[in-house]
Amino acid sequence: MNRTHYKCSYCDTGVLRAARFCPGCQAELHCGAPVGLYLFALVAAIAIGAACSSALPEAESWAGWLIGLAAWVAGWGLLDWLYANHVTFRRNRTDRPDA
Ligand SMILES: [Zn+2]
Repeated sequence: MNRTHYKCSYCDTGVLRAARFCPGCQAELHCGAPVGLYLFALVAAIAIGAACSSALPEAESWAGWLIGLAAWVAGWGLLDWLYANHVTFRRNRTDRPDA
């Protein structure tokens, strides 16, 4: 693995970063953080927003949701940054060699 290529986890073929599929075994490339982490960031941001909103006086409770929104944007950006070089290879067929 180097700066321009990923190495397929199924067949060890070098795959260009911009590619959608492995040329060796047609495994699909998925870049970025797992979807579950983005959902977790969203749920956490809502929880933060709700907590801040209820901690503030009624007239300023909107600011709590603003904090939650900021937390969500920050969390999303952090995930994108952390997983910028992360890629998973996925085969859609049922004949996975390592399943
Ligand atoms: Zn492959």
